[in-house]
Amino acid sequence: MDLTPGTRALVIGGDVRAAGQVARLLADGAEVTVIAPSVTPAIEDLAGRGLIRWQARDLDGGDLAGASVLLSEPIGTTPDPGVPRAGSVTLVGGGPGDPGLLTVAGREAIEAADVIVADRLAPLAALTWARPGTEIVDVAKIPGGRSTSQERINELLVERARSGRHVVRLKGGDNHVFGRGGEELLACLRAGVEARVVPGVTSATAVPALAGIPVTHRGLAQGFTVISGHVPPGHPDSTIDYAALATAGTTIVVLMGVRTLSAICAALADGGLATDTPAAVVADGAMPSQRVVRATLATIDEAAAGISPPAVAVIGGVADVPGLA
Ligand code: SAH
Repeated sequence: MDLTPGTRALVIGGDVRAAGQVARLLADGAEVTVIAPSVTPAIEDLAGRGLIRWQARDLDGGDLAGASVLLSEPIGTTPDPGVPRAGSVTLVGGGPGDPGLLTVAGREAIEAADVIVADRLAPLAALTWARPGTEIVDVAKIPGGRSTSQERINELLVERARSGRHVVRLKGGDNHVFGRGGEELLACLRAGVEARVVPGVTSATAVPALAGIPVTHRGLAQGFTVISGHVPPGHPDSTIDYAALATAGTTIVVLMGVRTLSAICAALADGGLATDTPAAVVADGAMPSQRVVRATLATIDEAAAGISPPAVAVIGGVADVPGLA
């Protein structure tokens, strides 16, 4: 769809198919309002991040003035009678958010799926490629809100595949980069369910790239280290040696690190990394709301104070390549 930027789009209904339409409209530059008394977690998440407006009520006549109206299709959950006996699970890496960054093999798997189990950071617009009868299950984990446990997700994949259906497990980025892909694969294999992997474009390299940051720019970095900032340095669950990282000479890419960025920067500085080392934070990469903040190891936490997840932080000379930054 080619929309004039700022087109007001009204989506009536908040089920998971509506979430696909919402994501596509957002990617096309529309200002989206969803009207539905209740919504699927993926829509709640987009509203919580301020990317769309959600009015939790029924439609009334005045809503239609000046808006393009889109009605979501009903979810078809009736199994297709032509479904083959032996089901399967395909872990599909959805890339960082723009459906254009999903692989051709990933798209083919979505188009052929009987069931899609989709995550919060998956490119939801890709759900519009699913066949009308495909069952879509929203297992978005909203930080501090609604979520589906990993055990339940594993069970869902196995149950649906055992009933003879082709299941796509759609995640953001690459399923094997902080995506629990290994666990889901093992759950399938242990249950005797055929499973395969379609790797995805990980945000660890793609999101910096979209902000003009080549993680291994020649002459600046001979490697990059991707870490999770889920727990801060010094936390009992942290297994990262920040002092070693500080002197390793590689670019440092931090995922899930918005809350812990200042503690991580302090640990790296304590470990001997120069405080004037360039640093950047890229939020909502590959989405219309993408933002980039650039500073140094000493100042990035303050510069990025207003940034909310999802965001990737990059620390190293590559965050400030003359001509690209
Ligand atoms: N499997 C994913 C990573 C999952 S962990 C991948 O390979 O990309 C979730 C973290 O990924 C977020 O906290 C954020 O750090 C990063 N992330 C994912 N999508 C992002 C995006 N579009 N923009 C910025 N960061 C993103």
